[in-house]
Amino acid sequence: MEKNGVFFGLIVSLLAIRSPRDAIAKGLGFFLAINSVALAIELALNGQLSMSFWVNTLATLLTALPFMVLVFAVVTRLDRLQQRLVELATTDMLTGLPNRRAFLSQGAAALSRSDRGVLFIIDADHFKTINDKYGHAVGDLCLQAIADHLRRVLRTGDVVGRVGGEEFAAYLPDARVEHATEIGQRLTGAIEVQIEGGGVSLSFTMSVGAAETRPDGTLEHLLKLADMALYQAKRDGRARLVFWRDGVDHAA
Ligand code: GH3
Ligand code: MG
Ligand code: MG
Repeated sequence: MEKNGVFFGLIVSLLAIRSPRDAIAKGLGFFLAINSVALAIELALNGQLSMSFWVNTLATLLTALPFMVLVFAVVTRLDRLQQRLVELATTDMLTGLPNRRAFLSQGAAALSRSDRGVLFIIDADHFKTINDKYGHAVGDLCLQAIADHLRRVLRTGDVVGRVGGEEFAAYLPDARVEHATEIGQRLTGAIEVQIEGGGVSLSFTMSVGAAETRPDGTLEHLLKLADMALYQAKRDGRARLVFWRDGVDHAA
């Protein structure tokens, strides 16, 4: 009984349509399978293919076609909806960057591929003051400007995300400290944002805490170290990069 259940489950999972391309492949496969059985029977009984065989094959094809088109359309729509849901669940809508959840999963994947890399936590300086002085909408503009700045400074292959309100993170796989120091210093800003129709501009900086990948270290542990370095950067006066190394916080 249990074996039947497993067998049935296997058949169902083999037949389940997973993508539009899968729908076409399985539809055609099913059509060919049915017709090759009919062809084998026809050849066994008559030794040749009769006119009625071809008529039947054509009729089957014409009957199956609308269903195949329907299944294809439904699966295509579901596929798009699923992609949209994944996008909504993993993207920060304000900046378009991966959100915390996506950053943690992409960062952990990058960390597992290589044991060398540098993690940055990037936090806007005195951001509350910007909100208080210019309003929340301008604060939002500044967050978008930070995201653009990160996209400009970081390379494809680097993992980046908005991990908190005005806090971002980036993981640079295979980065050496010298290269990461140069990148981290560029990340500190200053970023200029045009407000009130472009007539007025405001400028702000960021503090960056950095930590190098350690043998068998997890992303969570690396985030903790980078966070400690970030607090040191704030204490040291902000607008700077601080690397965490061997239990000692010091300005890079
Ligand atoms: P510090 O230099 O020590 O980091 O000071 P700070 O003011 O940046 O830090 P604090 O944690 O006191 O304030 C963070 C502010 O970020 C407060 C919060 O209103 C603002 N913030 C968080 N998320 C958003 C957002 O989505 N939009 C806007 N406009 N502001 C946000
Ligand atoms: Mg801040
Ligand atoms: Mg913060």
